[in-house]
Formats: sequence, C-alpha cells, structure tokens
Amino acid sequence: MPANAKLALHWKILIGLVLGILVGLAINMMWDAQTWASMGIDDPAAWVEGTKVEGVNQEPSIIAYGARFVGNLNSFVGDLFMRGLRFIAVPIVVFSLIVGASSLNDLSKLSRIGGKTVGIYLMTTAVAISVGLLFANVFKPGSFVSEETRDGFVAQFGDQAATKIEKAHAPDVWDTVLNIVPQNPFNAIAQGNMLQVVFASLLVGIALTLIKREKALPVIAFFDAMTDVIIKIVEIVLIIAPYAVFALIVEQIAELGLDILGSLAVYSLVVVGGLLTMMFVVYPIGFKLLAGIPYSRFFKAIAPAQLLAFSSASSSATLPVTMECCEKRLGIKEEVSAFVLPVGATINMDGTALYQGVAAVFIAQLYGMDLTVMQQLTIVLTATLASIGTAGVPGVGMIMLVIVLESVGIPLEGIAVILGVDRILDMCRTSCNVTGDAMVCAVVASSEGAIESEAEVEARLAKPMDEDPVEEGPLGD
Ligand code: ASP
Repeated sequence: MPANAKLALHWKILIGLVLGILVGLAINMMWDAQTWASMGIDDPAAWVEGTKVEGVNQEPSIIAYGARFVGNLNSFVGDLFMRGLRFIAVPIVVFSLIVGASSLNDLSKLSRIGGKTVGIYLMTTAVAISVGLLFANVFKPGSFVSEETRDGFVAQFGDQAATKIEKAHAPDVWDTVLNIVPQNPFNAIAQGNMLQVVFASLLVGIALTLIKREKALPVIAFFDAMTDVIIKIVEIVLIIAPYAVFALIVEQIAELGLDILGSLAVYSLVVVGGLLTMMFVVYPIGFKLLAGIPYSRFFKAIAPAQLLAFSSASSSATLPVTMECCEKRLGIKEEVSAFVLPVGATINMDGTALYQGVAAVFIAQLYGMDLTVMQQLTIVLTATLASIGTAGVPGVGMIMLVIVLESVGIPLEGIAVILGVDRILDMCRTSCNVTGDAMVCAVVASSEGAIESEAEVEARLAKPMDEDPVEEGPLGD
C-alpha cells in the first residue's frame, strides 16, 4: 500500500469518535417515542429487545425492522471489539511479563522498579484528588443546583443509586495485600484477576532466572514468541477499532439525558476541567521534571489508548492497546511496561480519584455541608484508597465513591443526583486514568534507561515488514 494512503490509526479512531458523537447527538435529539409510534411501535424498549408485551400495540413497519437491525448490528460491532480486547488482556500480561522478568538478571532492579512505580502512582493520585478538591472548592458546583432539582434527581434515580450503594464495601488493607498472592494461578488467569496474574507471572519470570540457563532458554523463547503472537492479535483486533469506537459512542450519546446534563453542567465542567488540568498541566510538569522526553511525543504515541479509554470507559479493556502504544510507539522496554501498565490499570486511577474528590464536595455543597480541612484531608486519604480499590471497568468509580462519602458523613442519597451524568464523566476519567498509567510507565522507563530515543523508534518503525513481521501493524506511525 502506498505510504500516503495509510492514515494512522489514531486519526481513524478520532474520525470514528467524532462521527459517533454527531450521529449519537442527532439520534438523541430527533428520535423519540413519537418516531417509534410512527413506525407502529408503542413499546420501543420491548421491540429493541425482541420481547413480546401483552396488550401493547406493536405493528412494526419495515423501517422498524431496519432500525432494530441497525441498532443490533451496532451493538454487535461494539461488543465484538470489547470481547477482542478482553481476550488479549490476560495473555499479553502473562507472556510479556514472564519474558520481561526473566531478562532482569538482578532482583534489586525489580524491587527498584516496583518501588518507584507504586510510589509515583500514589503521588499522582494524591495530586489528582487535591486538584479535584481545589476546583470544587473554588467553583462551588453545588451552588448551581437548586434544592428542587436535587430532590427531583433523588426521586428519579434513588432506586438505581441504592443498588450501587449496596454494592460498595470498604476494602480491608490486609486482605487486599494478601489477595495479590493467588491460591491457584490458573484460577487467577481464568478470572482475569490482574494483580494476581502480575504476581504469578513475575514469580515465574524470576524463577526462570534462577534455574539452569539451558533449561530456561527454550521456555523464555516460547513465551517471547507467544508475546509476538499476542501483539499480532492486538493489531488484528485494532483493525476494527475505528468502527467499534463509532458503535460504542453512538450508543452512549444517543442514550444520554441531555436535559440532565444541563442542570449538572457546572459540576460536569468542574470534573472535566480538573481532568484536563491533570492531562495538560500536571502530567507535563511531572514529565518535564522526571522524564527526559518531550510530552508532545508521549501524547502523540498514546493517543489511540486515550481514545479507546474514552470510548470504552474501561482501563482494563484498554490495557493491551496501552501496552502496544508504550512499547511500539514510545519504545519502552517490555520489562518495564509489562509490569508498570497492568499494575496501573488495576490500582492507579487518577481520573477516578479526582472525580471522587469533586463529587464528594459537590454532594456536600448540595446538602449545605461545609467540609472542614480535616474532612477534606480524610477525603484525600479515602479517595486514594477507594481509587486503588476501583476495578478498571465502567462505573465502578461511582460505587467506590460511597466509601468516600461515608468517611466524612456526606448523605449517600446524593449519588442519585450525579448518576445521570456518570457515564460521560466515566469516559473522561478513564482517559485520564490511562494517560496517568502511561505517564508513570514512561517516567519509570526513562529513569531506568529503558526507553528508545525518537530516532530509534522511527528507525524501528521504518524497518521493512519482512525484516520483522511483528513490527508492522495498523497503528502506523
Ligand atoms: N471506568 C474507570 C476505569 O476503567 C473506573 C471508574 O472510575 O469507574 O478506569
């Protein structure tokens, strides 16, 4: 294919995203119960699901069949892609971490990387909550919502909020640490328990360095080849990324309550403003101080991961793409990225922590509570723990918010107020979560001399396909 005919993947994803937003908005604004009625459908939800409802007039026209088919096809493409990403997540971590750990020939290097990773993750999370608290205190989003609106939301979403509140339980620190060690590594793999998978893979990798070299080498070669196989599968899955991003976004935007967005506009803007501050002010400053590479290079390299995180609202599902971007486009060595990124996708949620900080203060403001400095410090602590305990899947950040609210006695029913805009904010905070993981990965890699220069990356990407078939893929440059 001629070079100029190849549009880089992040541009294609961006086009999918923008088109998805536009089409979703058009459906949201122009397609309502009346539209369905004109197609002979009185119960659209039942029609879309294909269930029969007694006593309801369903005389579908051909257009209704067409609309349902297109809707189902759309969900199919989105779900297929998400399945593809989940399919890859565990194997890519297992294979590449075993290879990575087995190439670290001294344990002190491993503990140094581990220490730096966890330390910087905790630091960025605490900074993120502080930014959230600062923004919420300065802009006071709670003062823009009247008592009636608040009570209206509580009446409308109270039941849904109650189910979320029930699901929340504070993690026990001892259990959490103990749980990193799997009782059965195969079970950890089957369940996709990422910290256990990381632990087991590290252990196997380290043990490989401790047995006779001639016995270890074929095993390492096997996992090395399997890593290449999985990377190839990532690239195959990524071929449908632009369409899948379109499919995922259309569905979300079409279902978004735009009227709700109106009354929660200031709150939403404060969260988004905080997230943008993290991504465009805090991370670049940290980057300048700690990593030796320009932020623009970093940002360009990880764009596909950020866009996918936004569309899927799941840092775990995005993990294979984050790894691919960091390794292939930024030139970070596997021994660092295969450890730092899966741990980050599980415990480092800067965006979630920031959102929890803003949401806590916002709900407190809604109920006329003035939070003391001590209470705000408690929020920093509990939101750090809550974000660590948040799984990298959609919507969990809001469930863990319950723990933050409980720690300072903020009314839990306030969750009902912010529920309607949670998905869109989830998409934004997940982008920040993934950016934070990749940022720390680059910082750790540069401190270990485990990152290629821009020229080296370019030279590697320019290598002809037959020299190394794994290098060429849809990610482009
Ligand atoms: N969806 C977020 C993530 O996957 C977690 C959350 O804040 O709900 O990173």
